[in-house]
Amino acid sequence: MTIAPDAGTTAAPVPTQSRYQNRVADYWNAEENPVNLELGRIDDLYHHHYGIGEADRSVLEEADPARRRERITAELHRLEHAQAELLAGHLGPLSPADRVFDAGCGRGGGSVVAHLRHGCQADGVTISAKQAAFAAEQARKRGIDGQVRYHHRNMLDTGFETGAYAASWNNESTMYVELELLFAEHARLLRRGGRYVVITGCYNDAYGRASREVSLINAHYICDIHPRSEYFRAMARNRLVPVHVQDLTADAIPYWELRRQADHLVTGIEDTFLTAYRDGSFQYLLIVADRV
Ligand code: SAH
Repeated sequence: MTIAPDAGTTAAPVPTQSRYQNRVADYWNAEENPVNLELGRIDDLYHHHYGIGEADRSVLEEADPARRRERITAELHRLEHAQAELLAGHLGPLSPADRVFDAGCGRGGGSVVAHLRHGCQADGVTISAKQAAFAAEQARKRGIDGQVRYHHRNMLDTGFETGAYAASWNNESTMYVELELLFAEHARLLRRGGRYVVITGCYNDAYGRASREVSLINAHYICDIHPRSEYFRAMARNRLVPVHVQDLTADAIPYWELRRQADHLVTGIEDTFLTAYRDGSFQYLLIVADRV
């Protein structure tokens, strides 16, 4: 930088993370919600996203309290896992030689799912140092740390090799960043013909601006949910051409209905999600795009 050296000032270092990003990192470094940890412990696949599909509500009828808790936990995990499998199913076809990029990887479950399904090499990136270390340890324990790696980095500036990736995704992590910057980085990392997949909550332009519930969700997670339109606008400007769009809102409701009754796992945001999904102000969306 060359800011007025003659005036005797020193150049301010450009921070690698904004203050907002530091706050997001603090949140995830401190996060220990049972809904994330207890579900993950079942099979060491740690997902920090929501579930989809029909829920087996018979778990609520279980008479033994300890067994009831266990069965509800397992059922929610099954639904979260189904969501991860849906995403991974849209990444292919991939071979063991292919590399994939998991942007905002949390405790790492998504990269493991993609690796187990496609045999591919994965790079997961999270702004939380603690999550990156946790995920790396999980991969080591599984003996797949040669193929699945986790990095404490900013997904907007990964420093990874241009054009080196066959597929990339964001699973519930786009609401922490500006989409233009994010998609520019995906477009840079993906090879021509590569696949990009996102699953996200977004507010519904057809409803209007963000509803009260959407604002409550933003405050709860310290994030900034984008409108649906913004995804397509930002993709079109960054060489990402949608090939499949799926509204998962109705599929997401059984998960939230079950979770709100899981006294040992609730975080307090459950009814807000249900209201937002039901009144049409909020949508759960899958978008698959080709990098052209
Ligand atoms: N995709 C994961 C985690 C979702 S939670 C899963 O499906 O389980 C949101 C994640 O986004 C957290 O891991 C958080 O650290 C990450 N994140 C938020 N902003 C980020 C940024 N600028 N760079 C990298 N990761 C970020």
